Amino acid sequence: METLILKPGREKSVLRRHPWIFSGAIKSVSGQPDAGELVKVLSSKGDYLGQCSFNPESSISGRVWTFEDEEVNSSFLISKMRIAIDIRKELSLLNQSNTACRLIHAESDGLPGLIADQYGKYLVVQFLTAGIERWRREIVSGLLELTGIEDIFERSDVDVRKLEGLEEKTGLLNGEEPTEITEILEDGNRFFVDIKRGQKTGFYLDQRNNRKKLEEFTRDKTVLNCFSYTGGFTVYALRGGAKFVLSIDSSVEANELAKKNVKFNEFGTSSTEWIAGDVFKELRMLRDRGRTFDVIVLDPPKFASTSAQVNSAARGYKDINLLAFKLLNPGGTLFTFSCSGGVSRELFQKIVADAALDAGVQASIIGQLSQGADHPIALNFPEGEYLKGLICKVQ
Ligand code: SAH
Repeated sequence: METLILKPGREKSVLRRHPWIFSGAIKSVSGQPDAGELVKVLSSKGDYLGQCSFNPESSISGRVWTFEDEEVNSSFLISKMRIAIDIRKELSLLNQSNTACRLIHAESDGLPGLIADQYGKYLVVQFLTAGIERWRREIVSGLLELTGIEDIFERSDVDVRKLEGLEEKTGLLNGEEPTEITEILEDGNRFFVDIKRGQKTGFYLDQRNNRKKLEEFTRDKTVLNCFSYTGGFTVYALRGGAKFVLSIDSSVEANELAKKNVKFNEFGTSSTEWIAGDVFKELRMLRDRGRTFDVIVLDPPKFASTSAQVNSAARGYKDINLLAFKLLNPGGTLFTFSCSGGVSRELFQKIVADAALDAGVQASIIGQLSQGADHPIALNFPEGEYLKGLICKVQ
């Protein structure tokens, strides 16, 4: 096995068990390991610190797989996958009312670059890094063994693979192709999921608890759901007794599926309105027409992937939050989210505070939201916390 030696003084983060080694922390690498090859990590003095997959193409050149002196092989992988899956079992995240859940959440489950989501009888997998890409066969057979699920589909059509020098990939890994539309239950609500073509692996599983929370705020209320995708928050708002929900998303396909999801849940007297459009523009149009709402949800896509994009992301968040505050009725409630890794919780709260100030409203935070337990945040990997949400109540 080749070795990677860290620069003096750059061992600290590995000693704190952070799984990323940036190219700037590396003094030398022996031989010429291929992208994704496992190498030994040594301190500048030559002490063994662990083993990482090495990728000369990525600025995150090393992803540490183990900080112990152990062999990384298929039984190592299976044991990590088992631990991750057992946690979800212990928490009963899959049950009679919930048939979808993330089983493996990459670095936060000790498996850098690996995502596995269960949707009923299907597993959907993403291989995000060159390191994990090399173990695809072992991972598929491990998942089969641990879950008993045969139909496994790959959705590695994600931008981050480019940073790793990998092509995007999708297709069947085992068993049978998923049907065009798969049905899942979330808190007893029924959703159609497009595993093969939907965003991410088909559904935003990370928002489950927050959708449930919204339900508590919508009885007899008018609701505006911005960035509504396939209607997750819309369905919960209706379940909570909303009298009206307007949903906005730029994706026509997502909007169509969202309408089907509302029908699928057989809501009675409430009414719905749909806009396939740009939230930034539509919020201005709603303001100009004098429309107002009791509850507003803002769940935009990632505005900043890296810290370099934070300023423009901040402007985007400020803009939509300011408009939302203006559209809220007195006593109204805003559910506002950021899933940008580069935007910290503190910064997000500051942006929302500035938006309220500029909108001329007095608002308080009455709830802090995060990603669900199936998207854990390893304490040695704070970057794992990407989803931040606030429930703000306007006076
Ligand atoms: N709240 C959703 C997930 C939202 S993901 C849920 O619970 O399922 C972000 C969504 O924003 C995607 O559906 C994407 O199509 C949409 N989107 C991205 N940019 C947009 C824009 N400028 N205007 C409207 N929708 C946008």
